[in-house]
Amino acid sequence: MLVINKIEEVKVVVNEWRQKGLSIGFVPTMGALHQGHLTLVKQAVKENDKVIVSVFVNPVQFNNPRDLETYPRTLDADVAMLQEVDCDMVFAPTAKEMYPTAESTSANYDLGGLDEVMEGAYRPGHFQGVVLVVDKLLRITQPYKAYFGKKDYQQLVIIKHMVATLGLPIQIVPVPIVREADGLAMSSRNRRLTEVQRQVAPTIFKSLEWIKTHCQAKTVTELEQAAVKQLETAGFKVDYVSIVDRLSLQTLSPEQKPVHAVVCVAAYLGEVRLIDNMELGS
Ligand code: AMP
Repeated sequence: MLVINKIEEVKVVVNEWRQKGLSIGFVPTMGALHQGHLTLVKQAVKENDKVIVSVFVNPVQFNNPRDLETYPRTLDADVAMLQEVDCDMVFAPTAKEMYPTAESTSANYDLGGLDEVMEGAYRPGHFQGVVLVVDKLLRITQPYKAYFGKKDYQQLVIIKHMVATLGLPIQIVPVPIVREADGLAMSSRNRRLTEVQRQVAPTIFKSLEWIKTHCQAKTVTELEQAAVKQLETAGFKVDYVSIVDRLSLQTLSPEQKPVHAVVCVAAYLGEVRLIDNMELGS
Protein backbone atom coordinates (compact mmCIF):
# COMPACT_ATOMS: atom_id res chain seq x y z
CA MET A 1 0.00 0.00 0.00
CA LEU A 2 1.33 3.40 -0.95
CA VAL A 3 1.33 6.17 1.68
CA ILE A 4 1.70 9.52 -0.06
CA ASN A 5 1.55 13.09 1.21
CA LYS A 6 2.32 15.07 -1.95
CA ILE A 7 -0.38 15.92 -4.52
CA GLU A 8 1.98 15.59 -7.48
CA GLU A 9 2.97 12.06 -6.43
CA VAL A 10 -0.67 11.01 -6.21
CA LYS A 11 -1.29 12.39 -9.70
CA VAL A 12 1.58 10.36 -11.19
CA VAL A 13 0.21 7.08 -9.78
CA VAL A 14 -3.40 7.97 -10.68
CA ASN A 15 -2.33 8.70 -14.28
CA GLU A 16 -0.57 5.33 -14.49
CA TRP A 17 -3.66 3.53 -13.18
CA ARG A 18 -6.00 5.37 -15.53
CA GLN A 19 -3.76 4.71 -18.53
CA LYS A 20 -3.95 1.00 -17.73
CA GLY A 21 -7.76 1.31 -17.70
CA LEU A 22 -8.03 0.55 -13.98
CA SER A 23 -11.09 1.90 -12.15
CA ILE A 24 -10.42 4.03 -9.08
CA GLY A 25 -12.61 4.24 -5.99
CA PHE A 26 -12.07 7.04 -3.47
CA VAL A 27 -12.99 7.35 0.21
CA PRO A 28 -12.34 10.74 1.86
CA THR A 29 -11.90 10.65 5.65
CA MET A 30 -10.53 12.73 8.49
CA GLY A 31 -8.81 9.69 10.00
CA ALA A 32 -9.19 8.23 13.49
CA LEU A 33 -10.67 5.35 11.55
CA HIS A 34 -13.27 2.93 12.90
CA GLN A 35 -15.43 0.15 11.45
CA GLY A 36 -17.77 2.75 9.92
CA HIS A 37 -14.97 4.09 7.74
CA LEU A 38 -13.71 0.59 6.98
CA THR A 39 -17.16 -0.42 5.71
CA LEU A 40 -16.86 2.31 3.07
CA VAL A 41 -13.35 1.19 2.17
CA LYS A 42 -14.33 -2.49 1.94
CA GLN A 43 -17.20 -1.64 -0.39
CA ALA A 44 -14.83 0.45 -2.51
CA VAL A 45 -12.33 -2.44 -2.66
CA LYS A 46 -15.11 -4.75 -3.93
CA GLU A 47 -16.29 -2.35 -6.61
CA ASN A 48 -13.03 -0.90 -8.01
CA ASP A 49 -9.61 -2.05 -9.25
CA LYS A 50 -7.77 0.49 -7.07
CA VAL A 51 -8.83 2.31 -3.90
CA ILE A 52 -7.50 5.56 -2.52
CA VAL A 53 -8.35 6.72 1.02
CA SER A 54 -7.52 10.25 2.08
CA VAL A 55 -6.78 11.04 5.71
CA PHE A 56 -6.94 14.78 6.21
CA VAL A 57 -8.37 16.80 9.10
CA ASN A 58 -9.62 19.68 6.99
CA PRO A 59 -9.14 22.92 8.98
CA VAL A 60 -11.41 24.88 6.64
CA GLN A 61 -14.54 22.96 7.68
CA PHE A 62 -14.09 23.52 11.42
CA ASN A 63 -15.95 26.55 12.71
CA ASN A 64 -14.91 25.78 16.30
CA PRO A 65 -11.12 25.99 16.93
CA ARG A 66 -11.41 23.79 20.04
CA ASP A 67 -13.10 21.06 17.98
CA LEU A 68 -10.25 21.21 15.45
CA GLU A 69 -7.62 21.12 18.20
CA THR A 70 -9.18 18.13 19.98
CA TYR A 71 -10.06 16.14 16.85
CA PRO A 72 -8.32 12.74 17.25
CA ARG A 73 -5.30 12.12 15.02
CA THR A 74 -4.06 8.52 14.75
CA LEU A 75 -2.34 8.23 11.35
CA ASP A 76 -0.12 5.21 12.16
CA ALA A 77 -3.09 3.17 13.38
CA ASP A 78 -5.15 4.36 10.38
CA VAL A 79 -2.47 3.20 7.94
CA ALA A 80 -2.30 -0.22 9.65
CA MET A 81 -6.10 -0.62 9.45
CA LEU A 82 -6.20 0.37 5.79
CA GLN A 83 -3.45 -2.10 4.95
CA GLU A 84 -5.60 -4.87 6.45
CA VAL A 85 -8.55 -4.12 4.13
CA ASP A 86 -6.48 -4.02 0.92
CA CYS A 87 -6.53 -0.29 0.30
CA ASP A 88 -4.05 0.64 -2.45
CA MET A 89 -3.12 4.19 -1.50
CA VAL A 90 -3.41 6.43 1.55
CA PHE A 91 -3.23 10.13 0.76
CA ALA A 92 -2.35 12.03 3.93
CA PRO A 93 -1.41 15.59 2.98
CA THR A 94 -0.45 18.43 5.31
CA ALA A 95 -2.68 21.52 5.51
CA LYS A 96 0.05 23.45 3.68
CA GLU A 97 -0.02 20.93 0.82
CA MET A 98 -3.78 21.26 0.42
CA TYR A 99 -3.93 25.02 1.07
CA PRO A 100 -0.62 26.57 -0.02
CA THR A 101 -1.93 30.15 0.21
CA ALA A 102 -4.49 31.99 2.33
CA GLU A 103 -6.64 32.57 -0.79
CA SER A 104 -6.77 28.84 -1.47
CA THR A 105 -8.90 28.35 1.66
CA SER A 106 -11.75 30.56 0.50
CA ALA A 107 -14.83 28.98 -1.04
CA ASN A 108 -18.04 30.31 -2.46
CA TYR A 109 -20.08 27.44 -3.86
CA ASP A 110 -23.77 27.83 -4.63
CA LEU A 111 -25.24 24.93 -2.69
CA GLY A 112 -28.84 25.82 -3.43
CA GLY A 113 -29.65 26.56 0.22
CA LEU A 114 -28.92 22.95 1.25
CA ASP A 115 -26.10 24.35 3.37
CA GLU A 116 -28.29 26.80 5.27
CA VAL A 117 -30.34 24.35 7.36
CA MET A 118 -29.44 22.03 10.27
CA GLU A 119 -25.62 21.64 10.39
CA GLY A 120 -25.29 24.69 8.14
CA ALA A 121 -27.28 26.84 10.56
CA TYR A 122 -25.26 25.71 13.59
CA ARG A 123 -21.84 25.54 11.89
CA PRO A 124 -21.58 28.58 9.60
CA GLY A 125 -19.20 27.97 6.69
CA HIS A 126 -18.84 24.27 7.50
CA PHE A 127 -20.23 22.96 4.22
CA GLN A 128 -18.29 25.47 2.11
CA GLY A 129 -15.17 23.99 3.73
CA VAL A 130 -16.35 20.42 3.15
CA VAL A 131 -17.20 21.05 -0.49
CA LEU A 132 -13.91 22.86 -1.07
CA VAL A 133 -11.83 19.97 0.24
CA VAL A 134 -13.90 17.27 -1.48
CA ASP A 135 -13.74 19.18 -4.78
CA LYS A 136 -9.93 19.41 -4.47
CA LEU A 137 -9.58 15.76 -3.43
CA LEU A 138 -11.76 14.54 -6.31
CA ARG A 139 -9.67 16.50 -8.79
CA ILE A 140 -6.46 15.03 -7.36
CA THR A 141 -7.62 11.40 -7.14
CA GLN A 142 -9.90 11.35 -10.25
CA PRO A 143 -12.09 8.44 -9.13
CA TYR A 144 -14.94 6.78 -10.99
CA LYS A 145 -16.76 6.27 -7.71
CA ALA A 146 -16.52 8.13 -4.39
CA TYR A 147 -18.00 6.74 -1.17
CA PHE A 148 -19.81 8.77 1.50
CA GLY A 149 -21.55 7.58 4.67
CA LYS A 150 -25.20 8.30 5.37
CA LYS A 151 -24.01 9.07 8.91
CA ASP A 152 -23.38 12.60 7.55
CA TYR A 153 -26.69 12.72 5.71
CA GLN A 154 -26.70 16.43 4.89
CA GLN A 155 -23.11 16.24 3.69
CA LEU A 156 -24.03 13.39 1.32
CA VAL A 157 -26.93 15.39 -0.18
CA ILE A 158 -24.67 18.44 -0.60
CA ILE A 159 -21.85 16.46 -2.23
CA LYS A 160 -24.32 14.92 -4.69
CA HIS A 161 -25.56 18.44 -5.48
CA MET A 162 -21.98 19.70 -5.97
CA VAL A 163 -21.02 16.84 -8.29
CA ALA A 164 -24.20 17.36 -10.33
CA THR A 165 -23.85 21.15 -10.63
CA LEU A 166 -20.12 21.02 -11.46
CA GLY A 167 -20.78 18.18 -13.89
CA LEU A 168 -18.03 16.01 -12.43
CA PRO A 169 -17.93 12.53 -14.05
CA ILE A 170 -18.04 10.74 -10.70
CA GLN A 171 -20.61 8.44 -9.14
CA ILE A 172 -21.34 9.24 -5.50
CA VAL A 173 -22.04 6.01 -3.61
CA PRO A 174 -24.01 6.34 -0.33
CA VAL A 175 -23.17 3.80 2.41
CA PRO A 176 -25.58 2.95 5.29
CA ILE A 177 -24.77 4.03 8.85
CA VAL A 178 -22.64 1.58 10.83
CA ARG A 179 -23.64 1.38 14.51
CA GLU A 180 -22.26 -0.06 17.72
CA ALA A 181 -24.23 -3.00 19.22
CA ASP A 182 -26.23 -0.56 21.38
CA GLY A 183 -27.19 1.61 18.42
CA LEU A 184 -24.69 4.46 18.81
CA ALA A 185 -23.53 5.55 15.34
CA MET A 186 -19.79 4.98 15.05
CA SER A 187 -17.87 8.25 15.04
CA SER A 188 -14.31 9.38 15.60
CA ARG A 189 -15.69 11.77 18.23
CA ASN A 190 -17.08 8.86 20.33
CA ARG A 191 -13.60 8.24 21.71
CA ARG A 192 -13.80 11.60 23.50
CA LEU A 193 -16.84 10.49 25.54
CA THR A 194 -16.34 9.62 29.22
CA GLU A 195 -17.53 6.19 30.37
CA VAL A 196 -20.71 7.68 31.77
CA GLN A 197 -21.40 9.73 28.63
CA ARG A 198 -20.81 6.61 26.51
CA GLN A 199 -23.61 4.86 28.43
CA VAL A 200 -25.97 7.78 27.75
CA ALA A 201 -25.02 8.31 24.08
CA PRO A 202 -27.28 5.56 22.57
CA THR A 203 -30.30 7.61 23.69
CA ILE A 204 -29.93 9.39 20.33
CA PHE A 205 -30.55 6.13 18.48
CA LYS A 206 -33.46 5.29 20.81
CA SER A 207 -35.08 8.68 20.12
CA LEU A 208 -34.65 8.19 16.36
CA GLU A 209 -36.25 4.76 16.62
CA TRP A 210 -39.06 6.21 18.73
CA ILE A 211 -39.75 8.76 15.97
CA LYS A 212 -39.68 6.04 13.30
CA THR A 213 -42.16 3.93 15.30
CA HIS A 214 -44.56 6.82 15.90
CA CYS A 215 -44.19 8.76 12.65
CA GLN A 216 -47.50 7.62 11.13
CA ALA A 217 -49.47 8.48 14.27
CA LYS A 218 -48.07 11.89 15.25
CA THR A 219 -47.31 15.20 13.58
CA VAL A 220 -43.82 16.45 12.78
CA THR A 221 -43.94 18.98 15.62
CA GLU A 222 -45.07 16.39 18.16
CA LEU A 223 -42.35 13.99 17.09
CA GLU A 224 -39.58 16.60 17.16
CA GLN A 225 -40.64 18.02 20.52
CA ALA A 226 -40.92 14.59 22.15
CA ALA A 227 -37.43 13.59 20.93
CA VAL A 228 -35.89 16.85 22.21
CA LYS A 229 -37.44 16.15 25.61
CA GLN A 230 -36.13 12.58 25.67
CA LEU A 231 -32.62 13.79 24.86
CA GLU A 232 -32.66 16.66 27.35
CA THR A 233 -33.92 14.35 30.08
CA ALA A 234 -30.96 12.03 29.37
CA GLY A 235 -28.52 14.96 29.77
CA PHE A 236 -27.97 16.18 26.20
CA LYS A 237 -27.87 19.79 25.09
CA VAL A 238 -29.78 19.61 21.82
CA ASP A 239 -28.91 21.74 18.78
CA TYR A 240 -31.75 20.36 16.68
CA VAL A 241 -34.06 17.46 15.96
CA SER A 242 -35.33 18.13 12.42
CA ILE A 243 -37.62 16.06 10.27
CA VAL A 244 -36.95 17.13 6.69
CA ASP A 245 -37.51 16.04 3.10
CA ARG A 246 -34.82 13.55 2.08
CA LEU A 247 -33.81 15.40 -1.06
CA SER A 248 -34.52 19.10 -0.49
CA LEU A 249 -33.73 19.01 3.27
CA GLN A 250 -36.59 21.47 3.74
CA THR A 251 -38.69 21.18 6.88
CA LEU A 252 -42.07 19.56 6.48
CA SER A 253 -45.14 21.54 7.45
CA PRO A 254 -45.84 21.05 11.17
CA GLU A 255 -49.05 19.07 10.70
CA GLN A 256 -47.64 16.84 7.96
CA LYS A 257 -46.93 13.12 8.49
CA PRO A 258 -43.37 12.31 7.47
CA VAL A 259 -43.21 10.35 4.22
CA HIS A 260 -39.93 10.08 2.30
CA ALA A 261 -38.38 12.08 5.10
CA VAL A 262 -35.29 11.85 7.27
CA VAL A 263 -34.91 12.88 10.89
CA CYS A 264 -31.57 14.47 11.70
CA VAL A 265 -30.22 15.13 15.19
CA ALA A 266 -27.29 17.10 16.59
CA ALA A 267 -26.72 17.19 20.33
CA TYR A 268 -23.93 17.70 22.83
CA LEU A 269 -22.91 15.39 25.62
CA GLY A 270 -20.58 17.61 27.62
CA GLU A 271 -18.13 19.04 25.07
CA VAL A 272 -18.71 16.32 22.49
CA ARG A 273 -21.13 17.08 19.68
CA LEU A 274 -22.78 14.01 18.15
CA ILE A 275 -24.90 13.78 15.00
CA ASP A 276 -27.11 10.99 13.74
CA ASN A 277 -30.14 10.45 11.51
CA MET A 278 -32.72 7.91 10.35
CA GLU A 279 -34.80 7.69 7.20
CA LEU A 280 -38.56 7.62 7.75
CA GLY A 281 -41.45 6.39 5.63
CA SER A 282 -41.05 4.66 2.31
P1 AMP B 1 -15.13 11.50 8.66
O1 AMP B 1 -13.78 10.91 8.87
O2 AMP B 1 -15.93 11.64 9.90
O3 AMP B 1 -15.10 12.74 7.80
O4 AMP B 1 -15.93 10.42 7.80
C1 AMP B 1 -15.47 9.97 6.55
C2 AMP B 1 -16.58 9.25 5.84
O5 AMP B 1 -16.97 8.11 6.62
C3 AMP B 1 -17.82 10.12 5.67
O6 AMP B 1 -18.40 9.87 4.39
C4 AMP B 1 -18.72 9.65 6.77
O7 AMP B 1 -20.10 9.83 6.52
C5 AMP B 1 -18.37 8.17 6.83
N1 AMP B 1 -18.71 7.62 8.13
C6 AMP B 1 -18.25 8.02 9.34
N2 AMP B 1 -18.83 7.31 10.32
C7 AMP B 1 -19.68 6.46 9.72
C8 AMP B 1 -20.60 5.47 10.18
N3 AMP B 1 -20.75 5.22 11.47
N4 AMP B 1 -21.31 4.77 9.27
C9 AMP B 1 -21.17 5.03 7.96
N5 AMP B 1 -20.34 5.95 7.45
C10 AMP B 1 -19.61 6.64 8.31
